Amino acid sequence: MLLSETDQQKLLGYMAENWGDKAKCHVCGESDFGISSTIFEIREFHGGSIALGKSKILPVVPVTCSNCGDIRLVGAIKAGILKAEEEPAEEEPAEEEVSDEL
Ligand SMILES: [Zn+2]
Repeated sequence: MLLSETDQQKLLGYMAENWGDKAKCHVCGESDFGISSTIFEIREFHGGSIALGKSKILPVVPVTCSNCGDIRLVGAIKAGILKAEEEPAEEEPAEEEVSDEL
């Protein structure tokens, strides 16, 4: 999912407000970052199997250090880009998640 210009501004605002003086790369110390134009997702691990519809998904935006390439992932919901209800829904009831663990 692409970030709109408005979303990119929200992310920049979030970073300015929350990173503050910590807006330096923790690897090389530089403070120039590039923001991905795409929202990616991190899926719950299911033992190497693809479990569409059963996985929890964390939407993230990569922020890459322009000097060394180290990547930070910013939560798209926490940054105000996505609302929690826009997060891909878990379609399976909790009971099935429990049965997966047996
Ligand atoms: Zn760096």
